[in-house]
Amino acid sequence: MSDPSCLFCRIVKGEIPAKLVHETPDVIAFRDINPQAPVHVLVIPREHIESTGALTEAHEALSGKLLVAAAEVARKEGLDSFRAVSNTGADAGQSVFHLHVHVLGGRSFTWPPG
Ligand code: AMP
Repeated sequence: MSDPSCLFCRIVKGEIPAKLVHETPDVIAFRDINPQAPVHVLVIPREHIESTGALTEAHEALSGKLLVAAAEVARKEGLDSFRAVSNTGADAGQSVFHLHVHVLGGRSFTWPPG
């Protein structure tokens, strides 16, 4: 449920400070420490799940809550356009192995991403 060696579990517990922008009983959202856009917020489950790739049917409700929270963050931040991205695995750029959705906005983006 919680991994004491996981950075984002420690943020959930309040052991490491973060700039919270949204929270629900299951999900929190906080500003990325190294923003890649004017708005860059990470939406994470309170529960420790390694990545999007570790999701199963047991996580269907929680997965929906993550996306709804991403939309709430975008509304709160006044974003009409935004990227919601979940890097999954080291080759895809995942560096913190606690599932998270990046909400990026406030600038234009190209497609496909690099
Ligand atoms: P990823 O590389 O997709 O796993 O995303 C991890 C994100 O976590 C990166 O964008 C980091 O900048 C961000 N990050 C790492 N440590 C912290 C922290 N203490 N507080 C907020 N964001 C962090």
